[in-house]
Amino acid sequence: MAERLPREVFDRLRGVVEGREKLDIHVAGIVAMAMKEWAVGLGATHYTHWFQPRTELTAEKHMAFLNVNDAGLPLEFFSGGELIQSEPDASSLPSGGMRSVFEARGYTGWDPSSPAFVVSHSRGGTLCIPSVFCSYDGTPLDMKTPLLKAIGALEERALRMIRLFGNRGVRWVHATVGGEQEFFLVDEALASRRPDLVFCGRTVMGCPPPKGQRMGDHYFGAIHPRVLEFMEDAQDALARLGVAIRTRHNESAPGQFEFAPHFAEANLAADQNQITMETLRTVARRHGFLLLLHEKPFAGLNGSGKHINFSLQDSEGRNLLKPAGGNERRGLQFLAFLTALLRGMRDHGGLLRASVAGPGNVHRLGGHEAPPPIMSVFLGSVLTRLLEDLEEGVQSAIDPRGDLDLGLFRLPALRTENTDRNRTAPVAFTGNKFEFRAPGASQSMSGPLTVIFALWARGMDVVMAAIQSSLDRGKDINEAALEAVREVARESRAVRFEGNCYSPEWAEEARRRGLPLAPSTPEALGLYTTPENRELLSSLGIMTDRELFAYHDIRLHQFVTTTDIEMEILGAMVREGVLPALSRQIVLEGQSLAALAGGPEAPGRMEPLARMGRLKDTLRDRLDALETLRETLGGDDPEERAFRITEEALPLMEELRGWCDEAERCVAADLWPYPRCRELLHLP
Ligand code: ADP
Ligand code: MG
Repeated sequence: MAERLPREVFDRLRGVVEGREKLDIHVAGIVAMAMKEWAVGLGATHYTHWFQPRTELTAEKHMAFLNVNDAGLPLEFFSGGELIQSEPDASSLPSGGMRSVFEARGYTGWDPSSPAFVVSHSRGGTLCIPSVFCSYDGTPLDMKTPLLKAIGALEERALRMIRLFGNRGVRWVHATVGGEQEFFLVDEALASRRPDLVFCGRTVMGCPPPKGQRMGDHYFGAIHPRVLEFMEDAQDALARLGVAIRTRHNESAPGQFEFAPHFAEANLAADQNQITMETLRTVARRHGFLLLLHEKPFAGLNGSGKHINFSLQDSEGRNLLKPAGGNERRGLQFLAFLTALLRGMRDHGGLLRASVAGPGNVHRLGGHEAPPPIMSVFLGSVLTRLLEDLEEGVQSAIDPRGDLDLGLFRLPALRTENTDRNRTAPVAFTGNKFEFRAPGASQSMSGPLTVIFALWARGMDVVMAAIQSSLDRGKDINEAALEAVREVARESRAVRFEGNCYSPEWAEEARRRGLPLAPSTPEALGLYTTPENRELLSSLGIMTDRELFAYHDIRLHQFVTTTDIEMEILGAMVREGVLPALSRQIVLEGQSLAALAGGPEAPGRMEPLARMGRLKDTLRDRLDALETLRETLGGDDPEERAFRITEEALPLMEELRGWCDEAERCVAADLWPYPRCRELLHLP
């Protein structure tokens, strides 16, 4: 932009991005022209407002640059108006009842804070303009608008906090985010023969592979050459789109991998994660792979998450969650930001739980591989001791492992190795940032980020109010901050937990502490609409009650519909594949018995045959039960359906899966209708 725009226009655009100025149509017109020229130079023929409806995916409607002028001649054209706003007919995107079909218009509006990019293909390309999406009356219908509002609420408070600590030079604070993306790759030719993988992105049946991940030899192992080629291409494609992938490695399960980018400003990071998921999908296809972003594609193996790392950075380039040793005021400022998050979680941890509830994560969270659905924070032993000492008001006696001064108001300069890695907590402090590990691999980061920032902003309000009241009583900032941090640390003790979050005792302990326990998806989603959470989101201007209820409804529908599709696919696979295969095996078995000398009646010989017969009866019976359940699950109340799915459908599907796996074990390889998990997960 700096290269292609007149200096004055560029400065004004920067003003818009930094929130100092309103967008002017004249400026937009010049930017549009420059963008078009740049994009056409890269081979683009079309542009699109690229937006994020509440499907967790992105949406695009391509428009050609090519126009016809009054004389009927072709003309390439892209105006400021077209850059700023577009009007896709979006009646088929989820709105949670906030828009009826007769008023189906939706608007997308340019978000200048996230850079536009060009997606190229062999015949051209498309200029993608990151956008917000709302209904005709301005009601947000996307994931990005609430996120932008939450970022605004957080950054404004963080700046005020810094000013309170006497730093007047800082111009802005940005939330920074880096999301680690886990995924599975399976051979596309094999996967295409599995309706469950094609339609649901996960297996609904299939014995776990014999070796599984028991040997622990896949994690960080040498990357398979075919996968490495894919990774190189994907990284290259992502780099062209502005996403720098910093880490790549094998994950715990066979066929499972991870990509992590360099972190970026929150809004951009969320966009980049969507770009990453989309790019991985297309590049995988070119390499003959099917990409699985599902949270639990295979039973008996680890699922896939999206770890969201977040922090705050000021205009001087300082990471505000980096503990400062030596400097008292900086140290206290660090503690103020840290405890603000704890305080926000104490009152609104339920929102974090709600934000990760979904049809895929239901199979992953708490499965002895991913954090349980109880929202706690792990801080590491040094910080925990420090907060405990502060609470008690005692001289901090932490062994700093060496070189650090620890007067009462002094902080140890935490080194990352001090925050030993407890991998069982949903939220962990990892030395200079927090990591939220519960989000699912397929989720948009925007949902979880919106609630993290909202509750952190609220926590900052509490901390700042406490500091201000001490200042008003004549204390100096250090004393005031120390008192506030001590108070807030005390109040938020309940969300701190250093033990093993996978252990059953923790659920008991969490109940005693009064943390929200919402094991099922409908219970978790219900936490969105508790009075205190509604108050939080509406008073921060992030979502009105009406929007929040609509969003809740969309999330319930997503759970209900996804599970319904899985039930349908499971039923079809049993009826069309498993039962016929079992029948053939039974016939074959019968024939070979009959051919045996001594007749089939010889003792013991009939037993396997009889067992298969019984298995077939059971499968048929359970299939009938599944189909009946699907028919009677109806009803208009999505919440009631979600509860019935949780209590009846999911256990029944699990049971049916068990019987299918039993069938898989008795049917000959050439009769089994689907590629087995061990074939899917093994790359020759
Ligand atoms: P892990 O050891 O947790 O697997 P990774 O190296 O895979 O860590 O990923 C760490 C992620 O955290 C990266 O995406 C990185 O960009 C991000 N990150 C690092 N520093 C910050 C920061 N200050 N703010 C936000 N994200 C950060
Ligand atoms: Mg990682």
